[in-house]
Amino acid sequence: MEIALVGIGKIALDQHVPAIAASADWELAATVSRHGTVEGVEAFDDFDAMLAARPDIRVVSLCLPPVPRFAYAAKALRAGRHVMLEKPPGATLSECHTLASLASDHRVSLYATWHSREAGKVAAAKAWLADRTIRRFRVTWKEDVRRWHPGQDWIWEPGGIGVFDPGINALSIVTAILPDPVHLTSATLEFPANRQTPIAAALRFFHPHGAEMEAVFDWRQTGDQTWTIEAVTDAGTLVLTDGGATLSIDGMAPPDGDDAPLAGEYPRLYAKMAQLVAGGGIDMDLSPMRHVADAFTIGRRITVAPFDW
Ligand code: NAP
Repeated sequence: MEIALVGIGKIALDQHVPAIAASADWELAATVSRHGTVEGVEAFDDFDAMLAARPDIRVVSLCLPPVPRFAYAAKALRAGRHVMLEKPPGATLSECHTLASLASDHRVSLYATWHSREAGKVAAAKAWLADRTIRRFRVTWKEDVRRWHPGQDWIWEPGGIGVFDPGINALSIVTAILPDPVHLTSATLEFPANRQTPIAAALRFFHPHGAEMEAVFDWRQTGDQTWTIEAVTDAGTLVLTDGGATLSIDGMAPPDGDDAPLAGEYPRLYAKMAQLVAGGGIDMDLSPMRHVADAFTIGRRITVAPFDW
């Protein structure tokens, strides 16, 4: 299937272009970007122009930041195109519900992707936790904003969600692997004095069986990066590290099970999009985003040192 890629920036070039190129399902037929292009691919700098000129391209993948994404997604759905959304799927939950309704009205597929859910050991962690009683659950997501978002001012603007941009990746794994639904009970958000979004956050959750549950996100970590989820259960301790790529149970790597056949998060996302388009359907799980919205609703705000690149 031919696909158009919109917003040729960091994630499009790092992940989407190689994943599409390596896939037998997809052919990158056009790009839409004001500054970026992909060598050998027809380039548009205007989305309406692409939709009008290329009615043969039935699928559009949006790699823009969350705030401008809704207008592009709505146009594409109204034009009868199937749409794949980078995470988070919109700037607000209401936008995302509107997009789901539009997709349904226009009988096209819509996929809110959560790339971290496709990390190699997430499915194994989910399976292991399915029949365990969790006593304590701790998420630690600490990375260097300068390394992963160099010069991207949109992450500090309203709707950019700050440290929740990586934090929502952790929440996408948490909401995938936990057998029971949880909800936020308190949050502390640290805002740099000169910015509109938090640089760090500490969250606590209600767990229906009384497990102690917390998450800590921090964008000020230099050197080694930490993307870890630890679950202490009645039958051992599970630790997912490297953002879901590595799993240990009581300090030992479990024997390899039936790992997904494709290597890599983005190849798996594109394989799922191909299935969704072929079968028809909407995959719009908003649970990671709900926790972020709750954190902004009930979070206590602390002002910390200004942030400059
Ligand atoms: P980015 O490089 O800053 O932005 C992607 C492209 O979007 C830009 O190159 C720009 O292209 C276009 N764009 C930016 N603002 C726009 C606006 N107001 N209107 C229209 N187009 C605009 O960001 P990114 O790091 O690729 O992130 C994009 C999305 O991917 C985010 O939702 C992010 O959470 C997600 N993501 C990022 C990473 C990462 O490591 N950075 C990892 C996974 C997922 P033109 O100027 O050429 O139009």
